[in-house]
Amino acid sequence: MRRHELTNPAAAHTDGASHDHAVCIDALLDRAKHSFGEKGLKLTALRLRVLEEIAASHDAVGAYDVLERLAARSGGKVAPISVYRAIEALREAGVVHRLESRNAFFACHAPHLGRHGHMALVCDKCAEVVEVEAPDFHASLQRAGRDRGFAVTSAIAEGFGVCEVCRAEATKPAHEEQS
Ligand SMILES: [Zn+2]
Ligand SMILES: [Zn+2]
Ligand SMILES: [Zn+2]
Repeated sequence: MRRHELTNPAAAHTDGASHDHAVCIDALLDRAKHSFGEKGLKLTALRLRVLEEIAASHDAVGAYDVLERLAARSGGKVAPISVYRAIEALREAGVVHRLESRNAFFACHAPHLGRHGHMALVCDKCAEVVEVEAPDFHASLQRAGRDRGFAVTSAIAEGFGVCEVCRAEATKPAHEEQS
């Protein structure tokens, strides 16, 4: 999957306006409706709100943050168990993934067509997650398993580091940092 084009990385970074994120959200909501329908599940109002909170950016967010944002938005309390269940339903529908090593969740913007395994690239600085196809990684895991007579049936592929935008910010001349 190609990364979003960034015209003004530094300015775009904090507010998520590096690209037309509304397009990402629209596509995701369409997919969610379709996927829930296909599985005979209901995209309830709460599930939709939880999805919108997680999909508000490309960052991974903790369940507790989702809970807090929902409460702040609705001005009332939302039961944690309801939010956890909503997240589980969204994961089952394939529109939200769990970042296993960080116990956080992110919206899926990658079309998983089932042929290639994906990998989540996670920025340690801004928490942005990008899913990329990583067929070689998964193939080598399969091979390594096979060599030991082991059948690998699932794998967690998460890579951590610094994203393009954060790397650009780190190398930017100091006088530009004020703007
Ligand atoms: Zn986006
Ligand atoms: Zn995905
Ligand atoms: Zn970053």
